[in-house]
Amino acid sequence: MSQPAPLAAAPAFDEAWFAARAQPGVQRLKAYDPGHDLVALRRQYGEAHLVELGSNENPYGPSPAARAAILDSLHALHRYPDPLGGDLKRALARTHGVEVGQILLGNGSHELLMQLGQVFAGPGEEVVFSRYGFAVFALSTQAAGARMRIVEALPREAAMPCGHDLDAIAAAVGADTKLVYVANPNNPTGTWFGRDALVAFLDKIPAHVIVVMDEAYAEMADAPDYASALSVLDRYPNVAVTRTFSKAYGLAGLRVGYLIAQPGLIAVMDRLRESFNVNGPALAACEAALGDEDHLRWACARNAEQRSALAEALARRGLRVFPSQTNFVLVEFGARTPQVEAALVARGVILRPMGGYGLADCIRISVGSADENRRLLAALDEVLA
Ligand SMILES: *Cc1c(COP(=O)(O)O)cnc(C)c1O
Repeated sequence: MSQPAPLAAAPAFDEAWFAARAQPGVQRLKAYDPGHDLVALRRQYGEAHLVELGSNENPYGPSPAARAAILDSLHALHRYPDPLGGDLKRALARTHGVEVGQILLGNGSHELLMQLGQVFAGPGEEVVFSRYGFAVFALSTQAAGARMRIVEALPREAAMPCGHDLDAIAAAVGADTKLVYVANPNNPTGTWFGRDALVAFLDKIPAHVIVVMDEAYAEMADAPDYASALSVLDRYPNVAVTRTFSKAYGLAGLRVGYLIAQPGLIAVMDRLRESFNVNGPALAACEAALGDEDHLRWACARNAEQRSALAEALARRGLRVFPSQTNFVLVEFGARTPQVEAALVARGVILRPMGGYGLADCIRISVGSADENRRLLAALDEVLA
């Protein structure tokens, strides 16, 4: 008689056990790190006592017209939203001077960036982006099972410290490259490049490689040389531009972004879109926000004003502040960074630590309102004393 087989150890059914069953791209994936648990911190400190400058939100909020549109939409909560988002797309088409067929709406541009990877890259293929590029580029590439080709950024000593090395990015494009992600301006560095650099870069990318230009902060860029890739879309049919209502429009809570590209690219992306991916109140609010250009201009002007005031105030304290065309600044604190960060959290000031980006000696600080920036600087003076 044969021996009974030994009992196998019961599996733990833990994350590792399930990860081993996931598709290869997901096995090595690390979930998006949102920074601090803000809900817990709000409970601990009370919302009014927190200075939340960790997520690049717009401190002024959206156009009042967006709030009114949401209230107006509430009678229809039992209805599915327009799956085509037709009204918002027509408003966007007018705003940007493109065809309705060139626009795809997303549940935040995060969703669109993820979907671009899923649609255009796969196992055995490569996606190129810069070191210190937006975190979602790596997530999207890995989730698609494609290889990441991370290109070294410009050195800290460069005029645009840690900015995109566009020549090196173009040179990294090879036979397996399907997609290139470039954020302009970039998060978390705040850096940007101008129109000549953009055109020289796009000239070097073969037409069969899709270039995704993430322009989440484009509305806030006021450098004279800055140009959105939307201005050269006609010349480069392989370019796709993502925008968002989360930053300049002050609607991060609603989760709406959009993609502008060739109608053919949009049609292929649409095959994988979840049918009702943008909710009804969000569609209504974004359309209303788009119609209130004065509010957008006002919020961007306040941001530009506060951005230079904050950058100067930080520089006066002997800190190195990276140039920025966004609503945040990257600031070098050196070896004391973790202590500074922790001491600020203890004072209710929430910033974004940068260890996950490989910038452990820096902290990213969103530009707040004048009052928030004052409270940040007061806390910082205590901490640095
Ligand atoms: C904030 C941000 C986004 C926008 O994300 P949403 O999903 O639209 O809120 C996209 N790209 C970059 C670089 C960002 O910083």
